Amino acid sequence: MVPLKESYLQILACPMCKSHLIQKGDTLYCADCNNSYPIEDGIPNLLPKKVSTEFSDSMNLWNKRYSSEGPELDEPYQNSYIIDNLKHINRFWASDRKGFFLEAGCGTANVSRFFSREGRRVVGIDFSMNALKKAKAAFNNERLDFLFVCCDIRNLPFRNDVFEFIYAGGSIEHFEDTKSSVAEFRRTLKPGGKLTALVPVISLSMLTYGMLYGNLPAVPGFFNIAKFVHHRLLKGKFAIYGYEKSFTVGQITNIFENGGLNNIETGYYDSYYEIKMFKSEFLKNICKKLLKHRLFWPMIYVNGEK
Ligand SMILES: [Zn+2]
Repeated sequence: MVPLKESYLQILACPMCKSHLIQKGDTLYCADCNNSYPIEDGIPNLLPKKVSTEFSDSMNLWNKRYSSEGPELDEPYQNSYIIDNLKHINRFWASDRKGFFLEAGCGTANVSRFFSREGRRVVGIDFSMNALKKAKAAFNNERLDFLFVCCDIRNLPFRNDVFEFIYAGGSIEHFEDTKSSVAEFRRTLKPGGKLTALVPVISLSMLTYGMLYGNLPAVPGFFNIAKFVHHRLLKGKFAIYGYEKSFTVGQITNIFENGGLNNIETGYYDSYYEIKMFKSEFLKNICKKLLKHRLFWPMIYVNGEK
């Protein structure tokens, strides 16, 4: 058993009642509601005891993707994607960076790894324990400091007012209930803290290409049909990222506003997008140019402040 650092124990909370947790061996206990949670391989598992089928289906899918037999993590396109993530965060994370940085839906925590190298205090969360184990191995290799927590993004196991900056790159769209995750981000942000999320936006790309891979555009009526086809009829066979929806700019802005965030800002997320549809470089380049046009935008960023 390895004791969690005191500074980490202080920010963790029971996901059920949000009280402090106490570590005894490889278990975290909540003195208030008597729930206990295991620490697996140094990673607190604060997932709810019971999860919906939809949640466990997605979780299993991502655990499979991150299993040791699964595809290797550092596919070449991911490097460009991570560099763009860092550029984006650096644009908006303007404070002295002494507080905690949360990477929500961190996977193997590639973004956090860069910030940890700079000496920032990083926390990575994901519902895939396999992803977090890979992240941990990579951090240990470089002797970097970290806290990884396996949990549900809609019910964060952290105290109030903890994070200086939250980065949710491609995570909140994987749950039907987007409002709860945004509300939880607000609760756990420090006053003045910032949040940036990257989400798929409803556009011609999403309505064609995205939908082939299981994206569900949040258009009333149409959404339920797409969900039925992908998750009932096809049993998620083509939904390579599990459950995933796309929003209009108005919808996601409303969710942020209703979640109590201030200074909301949205815009095209200019990044490297992998084009799998064509082999020809010529066609790939045309696609890349088209993606910058509003009609074809694949993703947008949404920022908010507490
Ligand atoms: Zn509790």
